[in-house]
Amino acid sequence: MSESSPQPSFYNTEDRRQVPLIPREDGRIGLYTCGPTVYHHAHIGNFRTFLFEDLLRRALRFLGFDVHQVMNITDVDDKIIRAAGEAGVSLDEYTEPYIDSFFRDLDVLHIERAELYPRATEHVAEMIELIETLVEKGVAYLSDGSVFFRIAEDADYGRLSKLDLTQVQQGARVAADEYGKEDVRDFVLWKGAKPGEPSWDSPWGVGRPGWHLECSAMSMKYLGPEFDIHTGGVDNIFPHHENEIAQSETATGRQFVRMWMHSEHLQVDGDKMSKSLGNQYTLADLLERGLEPRALRYFFLTTHYRKKLNFTLAGVEDAAAGLKRIDEMRFRLEHAEEAGGLESTLTTAVTEARERFAAGLADDLNTSEALAALFGLVKAVNIAIETSRLAMGDRATVLGLIAEMDTVFGVLDPADWRTEGEAGGLDDAEIDRLVAERQQARADRDFARSDQIRDQLAEAGVVIEDTPSGPRWKRT
Ligand SMILES: [Zn+2]
Repeated sequence: MSESSPQPSFYNTEDRRQVPLIPREDGRIGLYTCGPTVYHHAHIGNFRTFLFEDLLRRALRFLGFDVHQVMNITDVDDKIIRAAGEAGVSLDEYTEPYIDSFFRDLDVLHIERAELYPRATEHVAEMIELIETLVEKGVAYLSDGSVFFRIAEDADYGRLSKLDLTQVQQGARVAADEYGKEDVRDFVLWKGAKPGEPSWDSPWGVGRPGWHLECSAMSMKYLGPEFDIHTGGVDNIFPHHENEIAQSETATGRQFVRMWMHSEHLQVDGDKMSKSLGNQYTLADLLERGLEPRALRYFFLTTHYRKKLNFTLAGVEDAAAGLKRIDEMRFRLEHAEEAGGLESTLTTAVTEARERFAAGLADDLNTSEALAALFGLVKAVNIAIETSRLAMGDRATVLGLIAEMDTVFGVLDPADWRTEGEAGGLDDAEIDRLVAERQQARADRDFARSDQIRDQLAEAGVVIEDTPSGPRWKRT
């Protein structure tokens, strides 16, 4: 960790308050993020969580940590088995297109890849080993071909979710294939297979691992029995993460996770997102409606991860307008004249902006504060330009800091979002409009503006030729 970086503190769900992040190994963070069940294309609720986790890993790196992130891919569960059976294909054949679309979507939203994406079906041996340990310790029992975790043996159960477990007991419904449970609260570790289902051999007969068990086995395999941060959406707290703690800590006798972080729900147009309401949009649905991936990313990152986020088209449009302001500022800065000589008036503004940005992120990922630092800097730069006090080297310093800030936000530079073949994001109509505006500026003898437009077009790979019959442009 660099000396100048502030000590981060995050809201730990287990403590219900913000606590300092104390890594197990100095400067290094082991991060486990629950991944997709590849039974359908990921929806925007999933992407809210994935973008929160992307922000977290980028912010940790900005604050000076090495991050080692593991995200599982759940490629076997009841729904997948049923759907693959109905389609008459193997599990792999069924899940492959959804795994591909998951990674494609990550790229579209500029979500950084985790260090590792282990698949459940490739870690059944580790899961069986974990169940064997629990059986040996007497907290797991075999019933009717399935193995269950005995909640009554775990005095600590409920520590994360703080639920009243007598309520859970009364309200719980028992699935038909889990009638063998001693207590309705017990959860399945190994599920016996029905005839004809895809299955794995185990000491308890053929079957498949339970979902909760997957995450315990894979996180501990790659991050060790104790690691720094475990994240997910709030709907993962109970029972998924509660059960992960029960399995892992009962097996190892050690504290499984130091910091639990959860992102809040996403609503759509003020409603809960649900299959029945038909508002579980996939990324492809939104792109089809003409929404820009860059605006979507910005939209998701501007609401704090622990606040409910209401997804509306108007909200995404506002995000796009916000980006436009950032782009205009960048353009202005890139083309401003460093007329103020050698002495910079911006040194303090730059230092303060960097400190405020880092402090915002370290304060439970306060993105509004981090963005306020950026916009505060922009204001100072604008004043310097307007009063001709932008000094030699200021432009590079400020753009350097913005680039550094963009390692966290990943939206500040429009050049990173241009698709191939696009001239700097400008289509023909926009180029025509800019060329006409340049003509007008020249007629008005506003040469600063006409030069500015020429530079903007040049940057977008468009050159203007002035001919006797008027200007012509071409892409280089
Ligand atoms: Zn999980």
